[in-house]
Amino acid sequence: MSMEVPLTTRALITGITGQDGSYLAEHLLERGYEVWGLVRGQANPHVSRLRKHIGDVGLVYGDLLDQGSLISAVEKVRPDEVYNLGAISFVPMSWQQAEITAEVTGMGVLRMLEAIRVVSGISGSRTPDGGQIRFYQASSSEMFGQVRETPQNERTPFHPRSPYGVAKTYGHFITQNYRESYGMFAVSGILFNHESPRRGAEFVTRKISLGVARIKLGLATELRLGNLEARRDWGFAGDYVRAMRLMLAQETPEDYVIGTGRTQSVRDLVELAFSTAGLDWRDHVIADPGLTRPAEVDLLCGDPKKARDQLGWEPTVSFEELVAMMVESDLALLSRSDRPEDEPLSFDHW
Ligand code: NDP
Ligand code: GDP
Repeated sequence: MSMEVPLTTRALITGITGQDGSYLAEHLLERGYEVWGLVRGQANPHVSRLRKHIGDVGLVYGDLLDQGSLISAVEKVRPDEVYNLGAISFVPMSWQQAEITAEVTGMGVLRMLEAIRVVSGISGSRTPDGGQIRFYQASSSEMFGQVRETPQNERTPFHPRSPYGVAKTYGHFITQNYRESYGMFAVSGILFNHESPRRGAEFVTRKISLGVARIKLGLATELRLGNLEARRDWGFAGDYVRAMRLMLAQETPEDYVIGTGRTQSVRDLVELAFSTAGLDWRDHVIADPGLTRPAEVDLLCGDPKKARDQLGWEPTVSFEELVAMMVESDLALLSRSDRPEDEPLSFDHW
C-alpha cells in the first residue's frame, strides 16, 4: 500500500503585518499552505494584532533594509514562494522620507531577490530552472503616474509622480531583470488601489470611513481632505490577494495588471460614504489645500483583461459594496465599548 505524502506549499510573506499581508496569509492558510511572515523590529506592535487575528503563521525576524537578515530568513524558512509585500507604502510619506522609501520600497526588492538567488545557489549565469523559489513583487499603479492612455494595461508606459512611484518602478524592473538574467520565476502584480476595513487610517478610503463613523457617532463634526478631483480604481483587498497566488501558480512567469476597470473620484467616494450613514457630505467635508500633494496622479483605471483571460481572476466586491463594508465596519469599531487602545482613532494627518 502506498503512503500519501502531503505536499504542503511553504510561503514567506514580507509585509505580513500590513493590510494585504493579513488577507494573503488567511487566503494561503485556507488553501493548505504553511505560512511564514517576515517581521521587523523589537516589540513591533503590529505583530500582536496579527497574532490575534491570524493564528497559525510562523514568524521570522528580518528587515528589507538588512541583506543578511533576508538571507537568514530564506535559509530558515526554505520557502517555495516568496511574496514581497513589505514597503513604505504611503505616497505622502515618500516625499517626507524619500531616501528611506527608496531603500525599503525600491532596494528592498533587490535585497529580497538577492537573498533568494544566494540561498538557491544561482550564480552569475542563467540556470536551467532558475531555482525553485517563486517570487511575487507588489508593484503598483502609482508607476503609471501621469498617464496619457486610459485604461492602463501591462504595456502602458510608466511615468511615476512620487518618490514612492519611482521606488516601485525600480522594484518592478529589477524583478523583471532577475527573471531575464537568471531565469528566476519572478513576477510583478501591478495592483491598482485596494482597500478594506484593515486599510491603514492614513489612506483616503479609510480616512473617510473613519471620518464618517466619527461624525455619525458625534465624536467629530468635520473631515478635512485634499484633492477631491483625483480619480482612482478602487477594489477590495481580499479579491486582490487571490490574484497574487494565481500569478505564482502559472507555468510561465509574467506580469499582470489587477484592477476593476472602473474609476471614481474622491468626491464620488465621499458622497457615497456619507450617504451610507445618512449624512450629507457638504455639511462636513472641508477641502484643505494644505493636504494636496507636490505632484498628483490625476486618473487611474486598470484594464484587468489579461488577468481575467489568463488567470481567470475576477473581482467579487463592487466599489459600492466596498464603501458600505468599510463605513459599517468603522461604525461598529468606534461604537465598541471595549475598543482597543491601539485602534486607529487618530487619523488627522495627511
Ligand atoms: P501596508 O502599508 O498595510 O503594509 C506595509 C508592510 O510593510 C507592513 O507590514 C510593514 O511592517 C512592512 N514594512 C515596512 N517597512 C519594512 C521594512 N523595512 N522591512 C520589512 N517590512 C517592512 O501596505 P499594503 O498591505 O496596503 O500593501 C502591500 C504592498 O502592496 C505594499 O508593497 C504596497 O506598496 C503595495 N501596493 C499596495 C496597494 C494598495 O492599494 N494597498 C496598491 C499597489 C501596491 P510593519 O508592521 O513592521 O510596519
Ligand atoms: P494613493 O493612490 O496610493 O496615493 O492612495 P491614497 O488613498 O493615499 O490617495 C488616493 C487619492 O486621494 C490621491 O489622489 C490623494 O491626493 C487623494 N486625497 C484627497 N484627500 C486626501 C487625504 O486627505 N488623504 C489621502 N491619503 N489622500 C487624499
